[in-house]
Amino acid sequence: SIVVTGATGHLGRLVIDGLLATGVPAGDIAAVVRNKEKAAGLAARGVEVRVADYDAPETLADAFRSGDRALLVSGSEIGRRVPQHRAVIDAAKAAGVALLAYTGVLGGPDADFSLADEHKATEEAILDSGLPYTFLRNGWYHENFTEHLAPVLEHGAVLTNAGRGRVASASRADYAAAAVAVLTDEGRGHEGKAYELSGDVAWSFDEYAAEVTKQSGKEIVHRSVTPEENRAVLLGAGVPAPFADILVDVDTAIGRGLLAGTSGDLARLIGRPTTPVAAAVAEALAR
Ligand code: NDP
Repeated sequence: SIVVTGATGHLGRLVIDGLLATGVPAGDIAAVVRNKEKAAGLAARGVEVRVADYDAPETLADAFRSGDRALLVSGSEIGRRVPQHRAVIDAAKAAGVALLAYTGVLGGPDADFSLADEHKATEEAILDSGLPYTFLRNGWYHENFTEHLAPVLEHGAVLTNAGRGRVASASRADYAAAAVAVLTDEGRGHEGKAYELSGDVAWSFDEYAAEVTKQSGKEIVHRSVTPEENRAVLLGAGVPAPFADILVDVDTAIGRGLLAGTSGDLARLIGRPTTPVAAAVAEALAR
């Protein structure tokens, strides 16, 4: 089977949709989920549902079978992901999967910002396991920005501490399509590869503000402040301190150009240009 973990999440759902659209029979797809109720729609479409929690290694014993091609979608519980991912890798190894693909972070070992640490440790654990692997080092999602347009429109400003830094983001659907390409392309040499996945175009927050202005008809500026000022604003808006620190650190990384790489790997894997950020802005404004 082709196995997708995190299958009830945003990316995992898109991967399963993509597998089905590519013609993979539903019965050959397995969705690993921690919440069976949330997967009712997948089961109704004929996808096999395997219930397992990254936090409970014993539940992962039946998540994989010998010969499966598996996608480990990185977890969302920041700070707990290294032991969680290790448990998944151990289970995949015990089952004898044919391939373990992992959604890491753009730059891989060179991504020196805090959010990247757990991805780096996970890649190392996969290498240590000896399993055949593919690293899908995902850059930023457009949706990280466009799903948070309400405060931008309210205040007339995109607030960052990223300065003139650029982001080569792509849509979640683009990254999902890359995973589908790797999972379905047996024998195409994806094993042992690390793909640096990102959008074709790296944009600045000045350009992003101009795009939102153009599409919304409301004057939006990019206000670049210091990390300390940004942190204070985030805390004032009710963002918990540990998460505010992560957001500030990501903006600093963007300012240093760490999320601006445009290797072209994503467009090559999906066989089409990546989705422009303008399209994601339009989609968000239409909601
Ligand atoms: P989501 O939060 O929508 O999905 C995360 C998935 O992981 C969910 O299905 C969730 O299950 C599952 N999950 C989390 N913890 C566990 C656990 N303990 N056991 C089993 N399953 C678990 O994120 P996205 O789909 O948007 O993104 C996928 C991943 O990519 C994120 O988890 C994160 O690691 C990373 N990411 C990357 C971003 C980028 O810009 N590149 C931005 C944001 C995240 P459930 O459905 O039950 O909650």
